[in-house]
Amino acid sequence: MISERLSRVAPSATLAISTRAKEMLREGRRVINLSVGEPDFDTPTFIKEVAIQALREGFTKYTPVAGIPELIQAIREKFERDNNLSYSNSQIMVSCGAKEVLYNTFQAICNQGDEVIIPSPYWVSYPEQVKLAGGVPVFVSLDFQRGLRLERERLRQVISPRTKALVLNSPHNPTGGVFSLEELEEIAELVVTQDFLIITDEIYEKLIYEGTHVSIASLGKEIEKKTITINGVSKTYSMTGWRIGYVGGPREVIEGMKKIQSQSTSCANSIAQKAAMGALLGPQDDVEKARCEFEKRREVIVDRASQIEGMTCPKPQGAFYIFPDISSFLGTFDGDWIIRNSVDLAKYLLEKAEVATVPGSAFGADNHLRLSYATSLDQINEGVDRIKEALGNLKG
Ligand code: PMP
Ligand code: GLU
Repeated sequence: MISERLSRVAPSATLAISTRAKEMLREGRRVINLSVGEPDFDTPTFIKEVAIQALREGFTKYTPVAGIPELIQAIREKFERDNNLSYSNSQIMVSCGAKEVLYNTFQAICNQGDEVIIPSPYWVSYPEQVKLAGGVPVFVSLDFQRGLRLERERLRQVISPRTKALVLNSPHNPTGGVFSLEELEEIAELVVTQDFLIITDEIYEKLIYEGTHVSIASLGKEIEKKTITINGVSKTYSMTGWRIGYVGGPREVIEGMKKIQSQSTSCANSIAQKAAMGALLGPQDDVEKARCEFEKRREVIVDRASQIEGMTCPKPQGAFYIFPDISSFLGTFDGDWIIRNSVDLAKYLLEKAEVATVPGSAFGADNHLRLSYATSLDQINEGVDRIKEALGNLKG
């Protein structure tokens, strides 16, 4: 009944687990959700007010495909202010979340069999979206024990005549690593002479605790011409449900993405676009407040998780995830529970300890587990305590 193409694609593990955790909560179970990457803060009031005003004024119609002109202008200013990037109006587009921007990007650039290089571990949706576009994901290992590093020699080895793009993501989901300026300069130097694009997902840009964010497109005119820079309001302004993401990039690619969007969703939600404009142009104090709060939580979760015997946990520099190595628990058991892989471990923790986490295999790293600290300190403390106890019961 369904297409052959779909049979090669997996559903989003992050969303599946968090849906299951929410379902268990509704059933009255005391689940602690350390799975999904979604800030627990409410959207700042001044942003909501912009949306309420838009509703009152009857701003309830279709918008231009690429987005309302005042939001496009706000995005141009944001890129200029924060990223040292100058785009014209025709190089900007708004979609229903960064996720849809990424989807449109792969649809716009991939021919059947084109290869897209994805550093691994990776965010769950990149490979599946590439496959949906007829492309082939090609993985290259990232080094994330100290900062984030993409070994040049390894990268060179996976470049082929069919390479269409390289996906970069910093701050990085799931490891929390951040590329340094030097690292990005070296990648840019290698890529600038190659005939493929860079897709850079900068959605966690504002959540950095060590180092600074650099947009690779700002490293020179040549690299800018090849780079598609993706961002959104979900993480920065606690606006995950509003579904607004945006992109700046080569005019030709953006034109292609508009064509796709004109035949799929038409445009992003009109009221949410107004709210996103309010977010980008308004006071940024809430962003810094949230960053400081996440930084406190990072200290606590890394400290507590590192005390669990058998778990090694590098300190992330950005985003709101830890990605500990759990390989010492593979091959262990507790009664009927046998832990063969990270999925077994995540299931065990969800059912036995009622803590939702995401198995590393969803990110291409089965020796790991991802824990989100986008939740209260109380939940983090209780969650890690329960994990520690459940892991302590594993034998073998
Ligand atoms: N990129 C990364 C790395 C993410 O973790 C997420 C998850 N929210 C997204 C893109 C998509 O974000 P959104 O669609 O909410 O803008
Ligand atoms: N990006 C978040 C995560 O990795 C939200 C879920 C999703 O969009 O897949 O948990």
